[in-house]
Amino acid sequence: MTAARFIIVAIDGGAASGKSSTSRALSERFHLLHVDTGSFYRAITAELLRRGVSASDLRAVRTSVAGLTLGTDLVGRSACMTIDGRPIDAAEIRSATVNGEVSRFAAIPEIRTALLAYQRGQAEVARKAGFHGLVMEGRDIGSVIFPQADFRFFLYADPLERAKRRALEGQTDSIVERDRLDTQRRTAPLACPPGATAIDSTHLSLDQVVEFVSKSIEAAGTPA
Ligand code: C5P
Repeated sequence: MTAARFIIVAIDGGAASGKSSTSRALSERFHLLHVDTGSFYRAITAELLRRGVSASDLRAVRTSVAGLTLGTDLVGRSACMTIDGRPIDAAEIRSATVNGEVSRFAAIPEIRTALLAYQRGQAEVARKAGFHGLVMEGRDIGSVIFPQADFRFFLYADPLERAKRRALEGQTDSIVERDRLDTQRRTAPLACPPGATAIDSTHLSLDQVVEFVSKSIEAAGTPA
């Protein structure tokens, strides 16, 4: 791919909707930095839980979050968060405890504000590392973080199919409950933003989703 321009691809959707697999495939195909913002919310959740801070103690959440220094390590094509210089523990952030708590922390405006500039700053991380752009996955990328992204997609799938996908990954996940909390929160709720392309992946394979998204990117004149 000749770097005609730096592109930003936003992939939003509910839990286990196929965002991560799709984003990883796009990252490889178009040489984009892969940014999984769910891992950022998970990392902060794990850190606060480790400090004994609960999501209902807003004062403690505010104080703790204000004191965190967030950094980024590049691991392969992915942006991995560091907190106070320490890399996050990939197994810990996917634990059943974090799965059960993350949406409560993610609904707290101070946590979202703390992550806003950090997430936008990933574009600079990608530029400096010579990527041709970035593909960022989450819940509010096309609506709040990068509403002007070159490409915005919203993936969804039947909840039963999504539960099956998580079970195949060997994970215990509260998909329906997380989606409920993520959809109903006041700040940056999970929703397909106007103008984004919605894709129902219930009956599509990963390859089919990736093909569809890739064709849309290529059709816009960004060479593969
Ligand atoms: O993407 P993943 O399922 O790992 O995200 C974990 C949780 O992080 C979500 O259920 C949601 O509560 C929160 N999240 C968010 N906004 C994002 C990404 C994730 O609120 N952009």
